[in-house]
Amino acid sequence: MNRSAYGGPRLLLRRLREVIADPASARARLDKLVVMIAANMVAEVCSIYLLRMDGQLELFATEGLNRKHLHSIQMRSGQGLVGMVARTATPLNIANAQEHPNFLLFPELGEEIYNAFLGVPILRAGSTLGVLVIQNRAQRVYTPEEIETLEAIALVLSEAVAGNEFSQLARAGAPLAAKRPIHLNGTGFFDAIGLGHVVLHVPRVAIGQLVSADPAAELVRLEQALSDLQANIDSLLDHEDLERGEHREIMEAYRMFANDRRWAGRLREAVETGLTAEAAVEKVQSDMRARMQRAEDPYLRERLNDFDDLANRLMRQLVGDAAHRGDLPKDAIIVARNMGPAELLDYDRTKLRGLVLEEGSPTSHVSIVARALGIASVGMAANIVAQVEQGDAIIVDGSTGQVHIRPPANVEHSYAEKVRFRAKRLAHYNTLRDVEAKTKDGIAVSLFLNAGLIVDLPYLHETNADGIGLFRTELQFMVAAKFPRIAEQRALYEQVLQAADGKPVIFRSLDVGGDKILPYMRAETEENPALGWRAMRLTLDRPGLLKTQVRALLLASGDRPLHFMFPMITDISEITRGREIVRQECDFLKKHGHKIPSEIKIGAMVEVPAILWQLEELVQHVDFISVGSNDLLQFLFAADRTNTRLAGRYDPLSISPLRVLRRIAKVAGDANVPLTLCGEMASKPLEALAVLAIGYKRISIAPSAVGPVKAMLLSLDIAQASAFVDQLLARGEMQTSVREQLQNFAQQHSVALN
Ligand code: PEP
Ligand code: MG
Repeated sequence: MNRSAYGGPRLLLRRLREVIADPASARARLDKLVVMIAANMVAEVCSIYLLRMDGQLELFATEGLNRKHLHSIQMRSGQGLVGMVARTATPLNIANAQEHPNFLLFPELGEEIYNAFLGVPILRAGSTLGVLVIQNRAQRVYTPEEIETLEAIALVLSEAVAGNEFSQLARAGAPLAAKRPIHLNGTGFFDAIGLGHVVLHVPRVAIGQLVSADPAAELVRLEQALSDLQANIDSLLDHEDLERGEHREIMEAYRMFANDRRWAGRLREAVETGLTAEAAVEKVQSDMRARMQRAEDPYLRERLNDFDDLANRLMRQLVGDAAHRGDLPKDAIIVARNMGPAELLDYDRTKLRGLVLEEGSPTSHVSIVARALGIASVGMAANIVAQVEQGDAIIVDGSTGQVHIRPPANVEHSYAEKVRFRAKRLAHYNTLRDVEAKTKDGIAVSLFLNAGLIVDLPYLHETNADGIGLFRTELQFMVAAKFPRIAEQRALYEQVLQAADGKPVIFRSLDVGGDKILPYMRAETEENPALGWRAMRLTLDRPGLLKTQVRALLLASGDRPLHFMFPMITDISEITRGREIVRQECDFLKKHGHKIPSEIKIGAMVEVPAILWQLEELVQHVDFISVGSNDLLQFLFAADRTNTRLAGRYDPLSISPLRVLRRIAKVAGDANVPLTLCGEMASKPLEALAVLAIGYKRISIAPSAVGPVKAMLLSLDIAQASAFVDQLLARGEMQTSVREQLQNFAQQHSVALN
C-alpha cells in the first residue's frame, strides 16, 4: 500500500472527508481534493469528471492537466476512456492509454505525455455519478491495492456528489446526473395520484463514519457480522416451516452466498483500505448494483439481487437499530422491494400519499390494503429501490402505473394540475353525498361498500353508502401473524357493526386459498391455486374454522340482524352444509343463554360457472345472492385474475359475461331473491351503467367509486339504457366487446362518466 505525504490511504480518506465538510467554496474544495489524491496516490494527474443529466461527462477538477479548460472539456458517456469507465461502471487500468483504441486526445489539456491511466466510477446505489482518474507518465499497471484505494476515495466523493455539493459549478448550470429525473413504468394498483417524498421502507443506512480509526478492530467487527449473518441464515433454515419447497431453495442459495469467499474477500479488502465495515458493505453493494443494472441475463440479475439482500442484512447486523426510519414526512411515498400488508398499516395513515413496489400484483395483500387506505399505488416498478434516495421528490400515478422520481418542473406542474382537477371532481362528488341514489327515471339504486379492514369503516360515513355489501373477513386473517382467536374476531365484527350504525353489513365467510395466503397456515403447493382448495371448500373441510367464525359473528351481532354469505359456492350441498353449521351454532349459543340475532340472512356468492346452471335451485336455498364478478370473470374467460399479462385482454363489457350477468338477474328477480353485484366491475361508471341496465339494483363497490358511480346513475335513464343493452345483446354475433357502443350511448345521452 502507498505511503506518502498524507500517511497512507486511511489517513487520506479521513482528510478527504474533512476537506469535503470544510465550509470553503465548492471550487476550493474540489481543487484541494485532487491535489491531495494525486499526492497520496503518487500520481502526476488526478481529475474528477461528473456526469450531467444530458449524458455528458464534464471535467470538474484536475491536478496535472490544464486547468484553463475545466468545465469546457466534456465527452459523452461511452466516449473515450473516461466515458468507458462511466458506461461500464467498472475500473479501467491501462499501462499505455494512448494505444488504447478508445483513447480520445484533448490536446489542449496537455495529456499526451501521460501513459498509465486508472479510472474508477463514482457510484451511488449502483448509478454512475462520475469518474475519478489518476494518470502517470511511466508506462505502468496500477496495483490491486491502488485500485482499491481509488475506489474507496470515489465512495467518499460519491456522498458529496449525490448531495449536490458541486452542482453549481457545472457548465451553464446544467443539472448533474446525481439528481437526474427518472421515469419508470409499473402497474397501477390504485387509481389515485400521489405527490410527495420518498420514504425507503428499508432505510439505507446513513453511514456516520466512512473511514475507520482502527482497521484491525474494524476487521474484527466485519468478521463478527459475517459470522452472525451466516448463523442467522442457518437458523432460518432450521425453521420447520421451511422443510420443503421454494422457500428452502431460496434460503439455500442465500446460505451459499453468505459463505461466498469472494464476496467476503472484497469486503475485507475494502476494510483494509481504511473504510469502516459499513462503508465497505456499501461500496461492495454499490458495485454489485451497478452490475445488476447492466446485467441482461435474468438469472444473473436474480443472483445479484440476492447479494443485494444479503448486503442489507449484513448492514443491519453491523448497525443494529441505528437504521432508524426517522420522522415520516407529511407527504410520504413508501418505496420498497415488497412488503406485507401489516407493515403498510404500521405507517401513520394521515401522512401516507403513495406506495411503490418493485414486486407485488394488483391482488396482492399489500395492494388491497393500499386501496383500502386510498393511496396512490404502483407495483412492478423495476429496480426502483436502488434508484431513489430517502427524501427524493416523487410522483406516483396509480391510474397509469407511472412513477416520476425527481420530476422536472413541467412534469410536476402538469401533475399538480391533474391533482387539482381531481380534487375539484371529488368536491363535486362530496356534494352528492346526501343526494338520493335514484336514476333520472326514478329507479332507486342501493350503493354498498366493499370493505374488510378497520381503516375502511370511516368511509361508510364519508360516502353515506347504504351499508357494507361485502365484508372480506379474511383480511383480518391475512394481516395477522397467527390465526385470530374468537375474541379478536368478535371484537372486529362488533366494531364493524357499531360503525355501520344499523345499516346492513354482509359478512363473507373466510375466503382464503388461491392468492390469499395465510403465512401461518401450512398448505400444499397447488398447480392451480385459483381452482384449488380455497374459500368454501377449505372451510367445509376445516369446519372448526367456520364454526369459530360463525360463533364470533353471532356473538358480535347480539340481537341485531346478521347477514352472512359463503364464497365460491359450486353446488347446492355447500350452501346447505354452511346453513347447518350456522343453525348448530345458534342452538349452541341459545343453550348457553346468549342472545341470537333477530334475523339471520344467508347468502351465496355466485362466482363459479357451475352454479349458473343450478341457479333456479340455488335461489330456493338462500336469502340473497351476491355476484363475485372478479372470480366469475376469471373462470368464464379462463384468465387468471392475478396475471398482469392477461389483465385487459378480455373485456367484462362483452356479450358473453353480460348475458351471464343478465341471466342471474332474471332468475333472482323471478324468485324475488335480493341480488347484489360485489366484484370490482361495478366500481367503474361505464361498467356500472351496463350492470344497472341488465337489471341490478344493488351494487357493492370500492369507497372511492361511490361518487363517480352516483354521478353516473343520477344522469342515467335506466329504461333507455336497458333497451339499448338488450338490443346489443340480442345481436351479439359479430362483436365481442360492446364498450365503444356503451360509451357512445353515454355520450349521446349525457351520462356523466367521470
Ligand atoms: C369476487 O370474486 O368478485 C369477489 C368479490 O371476491 P374476491 O375479490 O374477494 O375474491
Ligand atoms: Mg371471489
